[in-house]
Amino acid sequence: MSGAFAKKVAIVTGGASGIGLATVKRLAAEGAAIGVVDLDGDRCRAAVGEARGAGAPDAVALPCDVSHGDQVTAAVRSAIDALGRLDVVVNNAGLMSFRPIEELETEDWMRILAVDLLGAFYFTKQAFLTMRRGGAIVNVSSIHAVETTPGVAPYAAAKAALVSLTRSTALEGKPRGIRANVVLPGAVDTPMLWSNPNVKAGLEKIERSDVGRPQDVADVIAWLASDQAAFVWGAAIRVDGGRLTKL
Ligand code: NAD
Repeated sequence: MSGAFAKKVAIVTGGASGIGLATVKRLAAEGAAIGVVDLDGDRCRAAVGEARGAGAPDAVALPCDVSHGDQVTAAVRSAIDALGRLDVVVNNAGLMSFRPIEELETEDWMRILAVDLLGAFYFTKQAFLTMRRGGAIVNVSSIHAVETTPGVAPYAAAKAALVSLTRSTALEGKPRGIRANVVLPGAVDTPMLWSNPNVKAGLEKIERSDVGRPQDVADVIAWLASDQAAFVWGAAIRVDGGRLTKL
């Protein structure tokens, strides 16, 4: 896939850490100009440095909370002003919460849904308004969309809904020439995995061989975003080292 993203512009949300940062570097190494979206400006700028180091011809920091539609609109406008166009959006920003159902409040649901689901919707809307034919959207869901553990109901629901949003996006994107697909990572070696209290407490048991590297997911995201996947629309691809295939 050498140079697969030459002359293309990609926005990666949650691009300052983990799977997002690995995706930034992967797309940069293939020649993409990069817009890094994350909550904190300094961490965005550090990721921009990594993108340039990996080979991006240009890169910009787009500090933005993806759960605010107005901030997303401004971030996409800044990216196009600075980089000239938009070809790829990777909706990767996400967070989990840990509470049993009887302790959950409306606000818990609204925060997780706003970041993990609406964040992707806001970027998808802007992508539809600004992308040309040949554009690609890749959403980052989770195997929690399919199987889950206690205490993460809003996250599991949001990630399942993100798979559904991907189907709708693929359907409505088809006449526009904009593809959409979704990856469902299993356990991946990032800060999010090791800060998970279910994992820390041993309630969610993960074998070492079932823990992937961020770049394992980034490789699949990059392929889905590339023209090599030009006939792949609305696919949901598990990237979990086989964790869900066990009895
Ligand atoms: P991470 O915590 O390393 O990175 C997530 C990034 O998203 C952070 O930099 C964070 O600042 C950013 N972010 C969070 N809320 C945001 C917001 N409102 N606006 C902008 N940026 C925001 O986590 P990761 O493991 O790399 O997770 C990336 C994605 O992969 C998430 O959507 C996560 O649900 C998914 N995922 C991760 C795993 C895993 O085991 N690590 C498994 C399945 C799915």
